[in-house]
Amino acid sequence: MTIEHHPPEELLARFAAGRLDQAEHIVMSAHVSMCVRCRRFVAAFERLGGAALEAAEPAALAAGAFDAVMARIGGGEAASPAPAVPRPRRADDAGLPKVLDLYDIGRVRRIAPGLSMRPIMIPGAGKSRAFLLRSEPGTRMLEHTHTETELTCVLEGSFSHEGGHFGPGDFDLGDDTIDHRPIVGADMPCVCLVAMSGKLRINGLLGRLIEPFIRL
Ligand SMILES: [Zn+2]
Repeated sequence: MTIEHHPPEELLARFAAGRLDQAEHIVMSAHVSMCVRCRRFVAAFERLGGAALEAAEPAALAAGAFDAVMARIGGGEAASPAPAVPRPRRADDAGLPKVLDLYDIGRVRRIAPGLSMRPIMIPGAGKSRAFLLRSEPGTRMLEHTHTETELTCVLEGSFSHEGGHFGPGDFDLGDDTIDHRPIVGADMPCVCLVAMSGKLRINGLLGRLIEPFIRL
């Protein structure tokens, strides 16, 4: 698997420091479990954190590097604790990342033609929700924008938009500055793990007409 699209370093640092909410943490875990490069970054960051804790004198830190990183990533809310006991694997779990073993997955809900989702049942309230999004081959999504952020990790299949081509393991970050209209690869369905906060804004007249009926 060749992974071309990675989370920004700031997001990886917040992941390593346990500062993402559970839904975001799940999507980042899925990418990091598939990506050697990001696993290395997270491990290095954790070593840096450990070194900072062990340093007797704060002044001993090289140029305050760790403090600077922590200041940059600061402000995020602490992640609520993940469930401790994995649930038994089910037949339809094949191909899902192991982090999902910790969560119940809801029933399939149809969103639009060629598009369905299964919610990840996350205990407690977080600012994001997580779900598996499945699109049939060749589905052209409506052009949309996010009012906040959307973290996506491709599990199987692929999609493309202005930002490039995204295959298994690839990570995509959407926010309110990005208008995009993904097209799903024609060869097979695309399954993504998504964490979304805020609302989806679908552009254009059709979008305004159907938006009230789309609940993600
Ligand atoms: Zn990566």
